[in-house]
This record gives sequence, C-alpha cells and structure tokens, in this order.
Amino acid sequence: METIIRGIPVSQGIAMGPVYVLGSFEAKLPPSYLPDEEMIPAEVERFQNAVAKAQSEVEKIKLSVQADAKQDVGPIFEAHILILSDRPFKSEVLRRIQRNRMTAGYAVQCTIGEYVRGLKDKPFLNPRINDMQDIERRLLRAILDRQYEDLHSLGRKVVVIARDLTPSQIADMDRVNVLGFATNIGGTTGHAAIVARAREIPAVVGLGNITDTITSGTEVILDGTRGLLIVQPQDNTRTAYEKIQADYRRFGVELMSEAGWPTVTMDGCRIYIQGNIEFPHETDSIIRNHADGIGLYRTEFLYVDNKGEPNEEVHFDAYSRVVKAMSGRPVTIRTLDLGYDKDFHLQDNDSYLTERNPGLGCRAIRYCLANPDVFRAQLRAICRASAFGEVKLLIPMVCSREEVQKVVGLVRNVQERLSDEGAAYDPDMKLGIMVEVPSVALVLDHFCDIVDFFSIGTNDLIQYLLAVDRTNEQVAQLYRPEHPAVLRILLNVIKTANDNHVPISMCGEMAGDPLFVMFLLGLGLRNFSVSPPQMPEVKRIIRNSSLAAATAVVDSALELSSPRDVRNFLRVEATKFA
Ligand code: PEP
Ligand code: MG
Repeated sequence: METIIRGIPVSQGIAMGPVYVLGSFEAKLPPSYLPDEEMIPAEVERFQNAVAKAQSEVEKIKLSVQADAKQDVGPIFEAHILILSDRPFKSEVLRRIQRNRMTAGYAVQCTIGEYVRGLKDKPFLNPRINDMQDIERRLLRAILDRQYEDLHSLGRKVVVIARDLTPSQIADMDRVNVLGFATNIGGTTGHAAIVARAREIPAVVGLGNITDTITSGTEVILDGTRGLLIVQPQDNTRTAYEKIQADYRRFGVELMSEAGWPTVTMDGCRIYIQGNIEFPHETDSIIRNHADGIGLYRTEFLYVDNKGEPNEEVHFDAYSRVVKAMSGRPVTIRTLDLGYDKDFHLQDNDSYLTERNPGLGCRAIRYCLANPDVFRAQLRAICRASAFGEVKLLIPMVCSREEVQKVVGLVRNVQERLSDEGAAYDPDMKLGIMVEVPSVALVLDHFCDIVDFFSIGTNDLIQYLLAVDRTNEQVAQLYRPEHPAVLRILLNVIKTANDNHVPISMCGEMAGDPLFVMFLLGLGLRNFSVSPPQMPEVKRIIRNSSLAAATAVVDSALELSSPRDVRNFLRVEATKFA
C-alpha cells in the first residue's frame, strides 16, 4: 500500500528506485556479492580492519568501565574480545568472502546469523545471543563506514536511507548509483544539505525513525522539492512523478541555455553572481555557469580527502589550482571553519564530542587562533596562491575587532616571511569577514575601517539570531529566513556596508533561494554568491526584475509582522519574476 512520509526538503529533484538502508544496523543488509573476483582481497582487508577497529573499541570501553567500580560489566566486554579473536568465527567469515564472493558486511551478517540460530536452541546460552548481535552491529558499523565510499559496488541504482550522513559521506557518494537520499535527522542549512545541493542529489531529511520502518529493496519515490518519501507508490503516482521529472529536466536545460547572458536588471543595474564551492573540482561548474568569481571557498572540506592534518603544500595545491582555473576572476578563500557539524578531522578520535555546545564553542576563527600552527600553514598557502590571480581572504565566525586585528597581524607576518624566502604573493590581497554572528551584524559600522569587504553568512546568522540549531530537524520549522527579525537585521547590515562604501556580498543559502532574490536586491545587495546549480534561476529572476520593483517588495515585506505572511507575500512576488 502506498504511504507518504513527510520530511524536510533540502535538495530539489526526484529519485525513484529501490531503497538501500545504510548504517541502520537493526535493519538487515540485502544479499550483496562482489561483481569481480579481483575485489576479494580488498574485501578481506575490509573485514580484517573492521575486526581490529572493533577490538580496539571494545578494549577502550572495557578500560573505561573498569575505572568505574560501580559497574561490573567488564566480563561482558571480555566475552566480546574473545569472540572477535575467535579463529573459527573469522575463518567462517573469510570463507564466505573468498569462496562465495560475499561482501564483508553480508558475510559477517550470514555468519553471525548462523551462530545465533544455533544458540536459540540452547536457552541457557541466551546472553551469548546478545553478545553476538552486539558484535555484529559493531563490525557492520566499521565495515559500512568505509562502504559509503564505494556504494557503486552494489552494482545497482538505489535511494539511500540512513540515520544521518556527514558532509564527507555525501561528498563521496557515487553520483551515478545514488539516486537520492533520505535521513532520520538533519536540517535545511546543515552542511550535509549544502553538499547535497551542490552535487544536485535529491534529498529529504528529518524523517524520524525511517531507518527502522523501511527495509532495503522497498520501492520508493523521493521528492526532494516537497520533502516527501512515497513508499510503495501506486502506478498513477509513479506516472505523475515521471512527468514531473521530465519537466524538471526540460526546465534545467532551458535555464542552462541562458547561463552566459549578462546579469543586468531591466533598469540596467549590473548584478554580480559568484559561486560557492567546497572542492577544487567544482570550479568546472562555476565556469560552466559563467560565474563572476568564487564568493566562498569552504576550505574545511580539504579534511574530507586528507586523512590527517593537511600541510601547507596540500592547502597550496588546492588553492593554486582553483585560482589558476579562474583565470583572473576573484576567488574568495575562507579560512578553516572547523568545529560544529564540520569536524571532519576530529571524528576519528571522538574528541569532537568533548564540546557540549559546539555551535557556540571553539569553531572557525576561534579554533584557528587557538591552533596557530594549523592556521599559519593555511595562511601561507593562501598568500602563495594569491600570486596566480585575485585572491580574497575571508574570516569566518568573527565576533570582535580584536580577532580581525590578530588575523591582520598574522597575515603581515606570513607575508614578511614569504618576502624573506623570495616567494611570490599579492601584497594587496583583500581581507574580509563573514557577517554571521548577530552582535557583529548589529555594530557592523565598528568593522568598516578594518576590513576590505563583508560577506553575509545567513546560515549561521539565522541560527544564532533565532536560537535554532540549523542541523536539528526537531526545530526545523522554527528556522525561518523570512522571520521579520532576519529581514530587519539584513536591512541594517546591507545599509551600513553600502553607506560606508565597504563592498558586501551574501554567501549564505538565502542568496540562492529564488524566494528572497527580489528582497535582497531591494535591500541594496549587488553581489550574490550561490551554489552553482542555483545560479541560472537566480540570474533569470534578476534579469526579469527592476530595482524599482525590488524596492517596492522590500517596503511591503518589512511591514509584515509574521513569518508566514512574509513567506506568502514573497511567494506571490517571486512568481512574477520567475
Ligand atoms: C553561512 O553561515 O551562511 C555560511 C555561508 O557559512 P557555512 O554554511 O559554511 O557555515
Ligand atoms: Mg557560517
């Protein structure tokens, strides 16, 4: 029977196909075999690494529970260690991989399943069943973590369902076989959602306990535009969605044919459309979309590809590639915004869990100033890359003038050292700050004399202004860019920057949302930085609008006191200029 489950739409598009439940260790893996004999050694290694990882996890837990005299659970973990080092168990799994060509995960599941069935006849051994199942979950978690990287080894197209996905897992997804994804948790402007949009992977988040209620192989339609997961769709639903999908494709082709047209309003105002990127290879799509430059390069994504701390050469290689490819068009490189939901490098050692409130913790510039060696390596690489084209340095999460002054001092030191070494750099490189903390937005005039430009980060500005975690699906309905407080703070920010003749752009997701383009134009924003797939639509709205019409939209929107009224009003206006 067809069932419609409603979630939060985060990345447009339609995906239709069988579900693959990933990382849900209560759900069973579908039978999966290696298509090629040559893949067997890698699969054996995957199993052996998973056993080693599970053993070290269990050892750690055993030590920590032993330290707590109140808990007498040490023997449980000793039993787990015994199972993990049990030769017959391991040879049985290896036999399934080597002889039957099962994937490591499926081989573990079958082997443990057989053990458990045997134990069920012996009630006095029931506790062993729990131990075996616990080991199964631990091993599968270790194996599947790595399997995210090669979903294509399933050999078929799937809609991925997971409890949660990190930005790096989405960045690594095989775009051919992963048709779309849905998760139990998440929010619209979390970084997982941002990467999904950049990669044009249809996605819905915040679906509650979907991983518990759906099994691999179930047919679904995922509607990333309306935020729906339609389970076991009827034939007429499927036909309707096939038509919507075809319309989307046609609209996309039509918009792309206009990509190179100049972005000028009907009354002759030139608007600059730059792009946001996370990885150097995305420069291709920036160029394809005829962007005026890169308004935000999120460099923390270097940690996705690089297992350890990227050194200066790793930074330099990435930045110089992007700057050269942009052939003189500006590239705004943002310094590391690590922490919060982008703790790529910390996830391996669990230390990211030590901050109780990471959104308000040692994130971004706070982290960089507290780790000067990490920061200096990046600053040196950015300065060196500035020798190849126009580079602008952007500092995230700035809260005070002191932070800016410290960065200015560090950049100066780095440049002096580079001069001593005879290395080339641009001595006039511009330095700007993200406006994403409400206190900075409110006293922006205090920053006008110490920066060269501003970039508004609405993703964080909204979460801090409205006290709503951008990644939490439970409060997603409170995350409202159309909130009158957001509109008013943006009015203040853009006006202050323009009055003081400090260039200002917006790189938060609001800049690429067709609903807000007219409003932002009316506030005086002339530089938008958006994800490449959003560019054609934003450009079309601007070409169809005039500054006079945009000013009228602002006047009316600012008079409305409820977010719902603002949204309804802007929705009607947006259709006039689409
Ligand atoms: C923002 O906060 O709006 C922004 C662009 O930065 P990020 O999404 O990387 O936090
Ligand atoms: Mg931000």
